[in-house]
Amino acid sequence: MKPATSVVQIKPDDKEVACDGGGALGHPMVYLPFGKKTHVECYYCGKRFEKSSPKK
Ligand SMILES: [Zn+2]
Repeated sequence: MKPATSVVQIKPDDKEVACDGGGALGHPMVYLPFGKKTHVECYYCGKRFEKSSPKK
């Protein structure tokens, strides 16, 4: 059993991410724009993409 939500860290300057759910068990490729948010969740598979902070 996989965790309900997996989190993917992405670069802080990316404006959108592409998700296909991962291989044969995935879903159609979708692009998820961040807009002004620092994270998005894929509405197909629930995977969460978070921007890492530009600086710490
Ligand atoms: Zn997905």
